[in-house]
Amino acid sequence: DQNDVARARELIAGARSVVVLTGAGVSTDSGIPDFRGPQGVWTLNPAAERIWTFEHYRDDLEVRRAAWQERLEHPMWSATPGRAHDALVTLERSGKLRALLTQNIDELHQAAGSSPDNVLELHGTNHHTVCLDCGVVAPMTEALDRVRAGEDDPRCARCGGILKATTIMFGEMLDMDVLQRAREAALGCDVFLAVGTSLGVHPAAGLVDVARMVEADVIIVNAEPTPYDDVASVVLRGGISEVLPAIVGG
Ligand code: NAD
Ligand code: ZN
Repeated sequence: DQNDVARARELIAGARSVVVLTGAGVSTDSGIPDFRGPQGVWTLNPAAERIWTFEHYRDDLEVRRAAWQERLEHPMWSATPGRAHDALVTLERSGKLRALLTQNIDELHQAAGSSPDNVLELHGTNHHTVCLDCGVVAPMTEALDRVRAGEDDPRCARCGGILKATTIMFGEMLDMDVLQRAREAALGCDVFLAVGTSLGVHPAAGLVDVARMVEADVIIVNAEPTPYDDVASVVLRGGISEVLPAIVGG
C-alpha cells in the first residue's frame, strides 16, 4: 500500500549504498516472459527446462535444435528497456547505486543506460556464444544468422565445436569472479533491493542472506511471494513498472 511505498522510498533516500538484484520480472513489461510467474515459460511448459540443462544440451542434437529455434524466435531480440530499467538508471545517477546484480541475460539494463561496469550478470548474457571445445567467444548474431539461413546446429567457425550461449545453464557453475564481486557489493550495502525475482535459484538468491549478514534493509518488489519476504523490511506487490519509479525517485 501507499505506506509501504513511502517507507521503501525513505529507506532508499536515506541509504548510503544500495545494491539491486533483478530478475525476469523487470523485463516482462518489455515483452520478455519470465520463468515461474503465472505466464512463465516453465509454468506453461515444464519440459522447456530440459533444453536449458547443460548435459542435455551438450549431448543431444535434438535439444540443441530446439534450443536454437527457441532462441531465434525469442522476443528478447526486439525488446527495448522499460520504466523499471529506466528507474535503475535514475538510481545510478543519484550516486547511491553500489552495484546492479542481474539474473537476466537480455542486456536491457545496459541498453537503458546503466553503466556496464556496475552491471554484474550473474547468469551471463545471451548476446554472445562460446565454443565448448576451443572457448572462442563470438557475437550471438552470427550464430542466429546461420540458424535463420537454415543451419539447425551451428558449429564453431574455428574448430567445429558445439556452440552455446554465454549464459549459465542448469548444471553449470556461476563465474566465481562475478559472484565474488556481487557478494562484496552485498556486504557493503545498507539497502538491498530485490526486484522481479522469485528468489528461488541459488546462489543468486543467497545474496539476500549476504546483505542480511550486515543488517542491510531488504526491500522486495515482486508480484508473488518469495521465500525471503519475512526477512524483508518492506515487501511491495504492485507492478514493477509502477512501483520502482515511485520508490527510487526521479
Ligand atoms: P522468475 O520467473 O522465477 O521470477 C520472476 C518473478 O517476477 C515472478 O515471481 C513474477 O511474479 C514476478 N513478476 C513478473 N513480472 C512482474 C511485474 N511486471 N511486476 C511485478 N512482479 C513481476 O525469474 P527469476 O527469479 O529471474 O529466475 C531466476 C533464474 O532462473 C533466472 O535468472 C534464470 O537464470 C534461471 N533460469 C535459467 C535458465 C537457463 O537457461 N539456465 C532458464 C530460465 C530460468
Ligand atoms: Zn571452437
